[in-house]
Amino acid sequence: MSTAQRVDRIKPSPSTAAAQRVRELKAQGRQILDLTVGEPDFDTPDHVKAAAIEAIQRGDTKYTPVNGTAELRTAIAGRLRERHGLDYSGDRIAVGGGAKQIIFLALMATLDAGDEVVIPAPYWVSYPDMVLANDGTPVVVPCPEAEGFKLTPERLASALTDRTRWVVLNSPGNPTGAAYSPDELRALADVLLAHPHVQVLTDEIYDEIWYEPGQAHSLAAVEPRLAERVFLTNGVSKTYAMTGWRIGYGAGNTELVGAINKLQSQISSCPSSISQAAAAAALSGDQGFIRDSVAVYRGRRDAVVKLINDIPGLSCTPPSGGFYAFVNCSGVLGTRTPSGQEIGTDEDFAAYLLESRQVAVIHGAAYGSPGYFRISFATSNDVLTAACEGIARARANLS
Ligand code: PLP
Repeated sequence: MSTAQRVDRIKPSPSTAAAQRVRELKAQGRQILDLTVGEPDFDTPDHVKAAAIEAIQRGDTKYTPVNGTAELRTAIAGRLRERHGLDYSGDRIAVGGGAKQIIFLALMATLDAGDEVVIPAPYWVSYPDMVLANDGTPVVVPCPEAEGFKLTPERLASALTDRTRWVVLNSPGNPTGAAYSPDELRALADVLLAHPHVQVLTDEIYDEIWYEPGQAHSLAAVEPRLAERVFLTNGVSKTYAMTGWRIGYGAGNTELVGAINKLQSQISSCPSSISQAAAAAALSGDQGFIRDSVAVYRGRRDAVVKLINDIPGLSCTPPSGGFYAFVNCSGVLGTRTPSGQEIGTDEDFAAYLLESRQVAVIHGAAYGSPGYFRISFATSNDVLTAACEGIARARANLS
């Protein structure tokens, strides 16, 4: 069988592949300290599960409108109003099987061959492949740690061309946890206002897992003149520990949302009715889960950042949001393992950690940033402490 070029152009998600590798090693009986996890280690809150069970019992087990139930779109609109003061009517909200699907559909709805999408690196692993799968051209813009891993107005301006359709802004970001301040967003907006053909896809999936004072900021709210050109994406996966329920959403102009719904009507008809009922309960019900889970993440974040920064040759900037730390390992490149193998790249270091100490991390090149690796702290303190000890020992054995 021959596959289409769009399939040959892309690779499987490296984070999914890493999770699969850990599962295989565990199945072989190996004890793995798994820091690859891209999802909360908490259970979905009980009142959310109860809403799903009620939906089943009520008979809400049929197709829903393509763009999601009115109940869920009202809950999404309410949340966006409450958090950011943004007003989205129901016809400006698309609901899909996870933020991932919504982002994919937005690209599918707008890209023609050769259209460019600006992606700041480090980036979430899926953006470039999603662009490639939809015939677009990813334009990766390296954003060094010295600049906070964030896109600057200068770098943005020099990446834009007549073919640019989208700029992707993921804040707080995966894998770095870096987040844009209102001033930084305004400075980017000044550049974007001068380029009316460019749209901005803001991926705000980690916005409620937040460690700084106040809250994470959204471009559409900071610069209302851009609101018609912003497609704001988010979902319930990370905030409410609901990755398996597969509900995400996007809010933007009616033309784009209509195009996404048209595609969805031919792809999946609608997201799961039961998951939509659960997501509506999560967004409009008691928000105590966020406060409690973020307090736990915060403790882990502080512990991990300290443990890593105590290891010679490794360092990491504290993330402002999300549950990942992006560790600079350039200081160990060029060293040798006890068996004489050279650690030439971040990938070599990640492989050495797995082999010698059973610590699974994801190498930075997967995120477009060699010389780093990503640690997830969506796991227990015991695993984190043992894993950081393992990394310290592995490092000490390099010469
Ligand atoms: N955006 C980013 C930056 C992510 O890290 C992820 C999940 O890992 C997603 C989007 C997708 O989330 P969802 O589960 O809603 O598809």
